[in-house]
Amino acid sequence: QDVNKYDGIVEHCCCDYETVDRLNEEVLHPLLQELVNTAFFRYFKVKLWCDCPFWLDDGMCHLRDCSVCECPENEFPESFKKPPGHSLQVDGLVCQERKPEAVVDHTLDAKSFRAWKVVDNPWTNDDETDNEEMTYVNLQLNPERYTGYTGPSARRIWDAIYTENCPKYPDGEFCPEKKILYKLMSGLHSSISVHIAANYLLDEVRNLWGRNLTLLHDRVLRYPDRVKNLYFTFLFVLRAVMKAADYLEQAEYDTGNPEDDLKTKSLMRQILYHHKLQVACPIPFDEAKLWKSQSEPGMKKQIQNQFRNISALMDCVGCEKCRLWGKLQILGLGTALKILFSDNDRDDLGDTVQLQQNEVIALINLLHKLSESIKFVPEMQVIPRHIADSS
Ligand code: FAD
Repeated sequence: QDVNKYDGIVEHCCCDYETVDRLNEEVLHPLLQELVNTAFFRYFKVKLWCDCPFWLDDGMCHLRDCSVCECPENEFPESFKKPPGHSLQVDGLVCQERKPEAVVDHTLDAKSFRAWKVVDNPWTNDDETDNEEMTYVNLQLNPERYTGYTGPSARRIWDAIYTENCPKYPDGEFCPEKKILYKLMSGLHSSISVHIAANYLLDEVRNLWGRNLTLLHDRVLRYPDRVKNLYFTFLFVLRAVMKAADYLEQAEYDTGNPEDDLKTKSLMRQILYHHKLQVACPIPFDEAKLWKSQSEPGMKKQIQNQFRNISALMDCVGCEKCRLWGKLQILGLGTALKILFSDNDRDDLGDTVQLQQNEVIALINLLHKLSESIKFVPEMQVIPRHIADSS
């Protein structure tokens, strides 16, 4: 099955499949690949050991490929260890009355970025301001791939996501807001399956890794909707990144290695303002069309609660590495939702949203994973099956 047979515009989005493939291959994937290799984007802070709030733990998976390799204290950048609020005292700015947290009035400062904030993400269940039991993980040492996590434990999570928290609405249902959560989760699920298929343990005895085309076909390609949802999720997250462009351009990517940090800034700028992207797909997803109906406040709250539940389910994932990538990608999606659904009347972020360093790390790594999946799908199909399965 050829993915290019999906013609036309990606549903609810503003670009067509062919353009997305081209932009991803020529511009986005190469830049994102470099960006996630920088020191700033390599280290993700995560709480890996929490009890599942919904049912008794099924027990962790014992496969070697399930466990996460954490960073020793001296490995991750010194600047990441700064106490919360470290760089928040911006000289010369005046605290306003009746603002209990001494928040600086934005009108005094034209910049979008005002140092990394320690803020909780309202879309996720984890309290991102609580550093207790957080550990740093080097993502390069823990690639998302096949782990052997399968069976009732994994199935139970996906079932809980789809049946209880983001049901699929029938085609006739005319309410795009309600459909979005299902499409986002299905797109993320497709991306996880593509990564499992692209990095599969073909021979345990010889520790031989390669591609599993049968799995790719059975779990993703056989279902056109799952491929379409992957594109949808990619464009949704891309739009969030582009909407936050000014903020992300001004942000501090400080790891104590000036050369690497300059490279991070430069790559970020290239992604945010690439002329090919601006011309071919300036608004990958148009969030301004949403939330026009009367029921907006209630519906948005309901969707937010559903997403929070999904994020809480990540603590029930019984495989450490899957939990790591699950938590990262859910925080990335939560960050995209926070950016796109916080204030609909603006084209840019303005002063309504502040992001936490870890949220941006999750957002960019998620975009990279989705971009990688979009690249893998056609690539894997052109490799003759017998070579792919035995490589
Ligand atoms: P599953 O992928 O478990 O799918 C379950 C059911 O969901 C399917 O039967 C179908 O009805 C529906 N479904 C499947 N795909 C979609 C879609 N795209 N859209 C809508 N519905 C769909 N395993 C690893 O090896 N490595 C990992 O890194 C990894 N990460 C995971 C992260 C999370 C958060 C979770 C919950 C699981 C993870 N797993 C991982 C397990 C993996 O996703 C599968 O659950 C497992 O491989 C078993 O696959 P399955 O064939 O039973 O189908």
